Amino acid sequence: MDRILRLNMTDLTVKEEPFPEEWTLVGGRGLSAKILLKEVDPRCDPLGPDSKLVIAPGVLSGSVAPTSGRMSVGAKSPLTGGIKEANSGGQAGQKLMRLGYRALIVEGKAKDPEKRWLLFVNRDGARLRECSELKLVRTYAASEKLALEYSARAAFVICGPAGELGLSGASVAFTDEGHRHPARHAARGGLGAVMGSKGLKAVVVDDDGTRARQAEDAATFKQYVTKMTKEYKGGAQLFQYGTSTTVPLANMMSTLPTRNRREMQFEGADTLDGMKLVQNFESRGGGMHHCMTGCIVSCSNVIHDANKEYVTSALEFETIALCGSNCGIADLDKVARIDRLCDDLGLDTIETGGAMGLAMECGALAFGDGDAAIALLDKVDKGDPLAEAIGRGVVAVGRYFKAERVPAIRGQGVPAWEPRTLNATGITYATSAMGADHTAGLIVMPVDDPARASQEAQLINALCDSSGFCQFQQPTIDDIRTLYNCLYAKSITFEDAADLGWQCMQDEWAFNRAAGFGPEDNDLPAWMRTEAVPSNGAVFAASKDEIMRVFERMPISDNLRQMKAVG
Ligand code: SF4
Repeated sequence: MDRILRLNMTDLTVKEEPFPEEWTLVGGRGLSAKILLKEVDPRCDPLGPDSKLVIAPGVLSGSVAPTSGRMSVGAKSPLTGGIKEANSGGQAGQKLMRLGYRALIVEGKAKDPEKRWLLFVNRDGARLRECSELKLVRTYAASEKLALEYSARAAFVICGPAGELGLSGASVAFTDEGHRHPARHAARGGLGAVMGSKGLKAVVVDDDGTRARQAEDAATFKQYVTKMTKEYKGGAQLFQYGTSTTVPLANMMSTLPTRNRREMQFEGADTLDGMKLVQNFESRGGGMHHCMTGCIVSCSNVIHDANKEYVTSALEFETIALCGSNCGIADLDKVARIDRLCDDLGLDTIETGGAMGLAMECGALAFGDGDAAIALLDKVDKGDPLAEAIGRGVVAVGRYFKAERVPAIRGQGVPAWEPRTLNATGITYATSAMGADHTAGLIVMPVDDPARASQEAQLINALCDSSGFCQFQQPTIDDIRTLYNCLYAKSITFEDAADLGWQCMQDEWAFNRAAGFGPEDNDLPAWMRTEAVPSNGAVFAASKDEIMRVFERMPISDNLRQMKAVG
């Protein structure tokens, strides 16, 4: 029987509870929203004892459905003040679900702020132990130390120093398949700071002795998995070299943030093209890799330096855009170093790159000076006030310099995909409970009805993020519904599955309303409506009425029936 693990950090106890039957088809992001809405006061201090951190695999995680082991982390965000879910690849999601745990709820707050704690979970249950020797240890070193103690099957979830210091740009790190590098992150919204505030440094999940979750209708499930795999392998395989190869396209489309978004085309875009990383594999080593067992996309690039030494993995488009062009840095090796530092400190690269670009515009360091950016970031856990402001994110840097033009929406730094160029994506940023988060509903192509396009993209992505599927697998609603039905002997329709995505959005909006957000918060910063992108003259032009249409459910369209999730 599936269970929930409840870890109380105030009295240092772990309990198991039965998983509610009515939530069988609710997992990942949707489950996190249900638990937070039910158990957390939306007006609580996100870093106080009343907040809770939910770590939840998707509905399909632990099964053999392709690319479906993502793990959601959810909490009230210290960055936005609203509900937040960020999901990650890595190995822990598959393993937690194989052990029969649908969620880990972390509540309370350790009484002694000097101590650190580690939760070990295996088939015998869960045990908490002190691990103060890992206090403020960076994630790569922490992973190496844990690897000496735990079996090769164990996956780690780690809070980096940024989270321990309560910095609101902090991520939660997950170790990846094979290498066990803490290179996968539930990055956005400062959820690492929530984990750190509780005194929880790490969760170790060892699924030794378990097997993949078996479907009730095993034959049909297997058939469908084979069909999906075949179709993916025979299709365009858009992400076979990862997202980093998107740089030239984004530049051409005027959605490559450059020097704190003053421009959206970068003269060094060719230098930052991710195909260069692929070309380097032959001489430097590295290559494409999958971050979790069962992934058939393998979008994760493993990056080596000129000395053939490992630097980082999953150097993605968003990181290259925010930590590269947005800071005027036209050097992939330096951007890879920044990515590694962010992973090591436990920081979101989008928030950090946005914050660094703003600090550069405010004169703290020169645009294009990659070495200075690396040196400054290296001080995030060494008590440097400016470095700490960068670790707190874009708005904190704006406050630090009293800047007026701050590229953030509802407290969160804007991703690379530019809302002035892509107005439908701007509507997503304005309406999603997640704030400025491209994974909530990215629309890159021109559309006739931007509000409808945004609602549909948000709905399918909410369902995808609840299923455990990686958005790069690009499942349709029908894919998800069919696999749910086989796995749990259910018979839900397309409409029922779409309702699950919509319900997730409604739960998140309800939390945010109770946290104090109103209609006036559903907008972009005023400057995005007046300051045109130089290369295409675009501003964010969606009217308030247009934006508010997203909150009214629209009838299911043919487009939604065919649509694939996309990140
Ligand atoms: S597609 Fe990429 S991000 Fe998604 S699970 Fe596979 S390697 Fe990880």
